[in-house]
Amino acid sequence: MNNLNTDQQNLDVLLTAVKQQGIDYLNHIQERTTSSSAEVGIVYDLNEEGIGAKNALAQFNERFEPLMVASSGPRYWGFVTGGTTPAAIAGDWLSTIYDQNTQSAIGTGDISAVIELETIQLLLSLFNLPKDYFGGFVTGATMSNFTCLAVARQWIGKQLGKDFAREGVSGTIKVLSATPHSSSVKSLSMLGLGSGNFIQVKVMEGNREALDVADLELKIKALNGEPFILISSGGTVNTVDFDDFESINTLKEKYNFWWHIDAAFGGFASCSPRYRHLLKGWENADSITVDCHKWLNVPYESAVFFVKEKHQLLQVETFQNSNAAYLGDPMENFSYLNFLPENSRRLKALPAWFTLTSYGKKGYQEIVESNIEMALLFAGFINNHPAFELLAPVRLNTVCFSLTDESLVVTFLEKLNTKGKVFMTPTFYNGKKGIRAAFVNWQTSVADVKLATNAMLEILAER
Ligand SMILES: *Cc1c(COP(=O)(O)O)cnc(C)c1O
Repeated sequence: MNNLNTDQQNLDVLLTAVKQQGIDYLNHIQERTTSSSAEVGIVYDLNEEGIGAKNALAQFNERFEPLMVASSGPRYWGFVTGGTTPAAIAGDWLSTIYDQNTQSAIGTGDISAVIELETIQLLLSLFNLPKDYFGGFVTGATMSNFTCLAVARQWIGKQLGKDFAREGVSGTIKVLSATPHSSSVKSLSMLGLGSGNFIQVKVMEGNREALDVADLELKIKALNGEPFILISSGGTVNTVDFDDFESINTLKEKYNFWWHIDAAFGGFASCSPRYRHLLKGWENADSITVDCHKWLNVPYESAVFFVKEKHQLLQVETFQNSNAAYLGDPMENFSYLNFLPENSRRLKALPAWFTLTSYGKKGYQEIVESNIEMALLFAGFINNHPAFELLAPVRLNTVCFSLTDESLVVTFLEKLNTKGKVFMTPTFYNGKKGIRAAFVNWQTSVADVKLATNAMLEILAER
């Protein structure tokens, strides 16, 4: 174990080198490319003695570092890729250093779940949500949707006099949705509910992705009182459209269903008094998904679920470690491992706690409003240039557009992304090939939008 002893003795040198490299990277992230075509051969055999961390770092820098793109930089507009605030990075480093296995909040041993429970309270406060939600951290909105829908599944079972968690799923569970994110559909598959089983609700007329409430009620009536799950959108991924939560509240008074909202990034509209109205009524949903590695700007992998506390028994029935008696009664000895998919878990709350505590409500209001402003600025460019067209109005922070000559979209985007100045992702919307630019990075400025639009103009000029 020579290398291990040497590394222990040189811990200071090793971590200082990594710290300095990190600072250099982050201080120059503006200039860093947003795409990479570097090639790297894969090593298949592990060496006997190891090479020590200093040499491993050198090897990483030589072989893998060139693969790293500025995904947390200000012009990575593909998918919905968040940045990382300085405080979030500090918290993330400390999560690694303290390396807690976050499960319980009282007792002896690791009680780091106190931090997670507090962070959930801070998030509920940020989102102006009531305190009757129980929440926790998972790896992403996909797992959050999965967690929420798993509890919904157990709820449906109860309505039918069954315990799906114990007995397995039987029958066809009715799920209604208009524009579910692909990860919710994937969750239906993982939960044994069937990705092909959801009932399609119509979207509203007029270039919308939000569900048509009248059609929803028709589809509900057709179920003849059968309980169902409604997956609604608090920001669709293409055009950031929001279902009408107030109307859904009215339906909830008349019909028996589990109401889930996927608000992966749209939930952050609640940080701004100007955009909060989009979420009006969401506080009555049975479960809500919010991503943290998007608009909260913490490193991957981080998201939360909120499930109404009144459903806690269903949640425990779903996630308890039912054959591990040594873990005690899950309702009495609280431990996260009985409330969500993972057992052993990283202290994922700490980066979120750091950034929330550091920047507060105002900080997030500013990030959200500034990103929306940049989206509108970019949309203005699209709107004013004859080569481009908006595919949908900008409702929040995402610009969904195409080229007026649709046949050019694929090559245009390829050329643009290869330049490495800005990164966007392809989409398909309203029967058209399109491009999506999502603004969720605290650093994105007017100069970044200018740099991106200049790169786009250069490509047009090349033709
Ligand atoms: C990004 C996103 C997801 C999936 O989130 P991951 O963090 O990638 O797992 C789910 N729903 C919506 C609306 C999203 O934008």
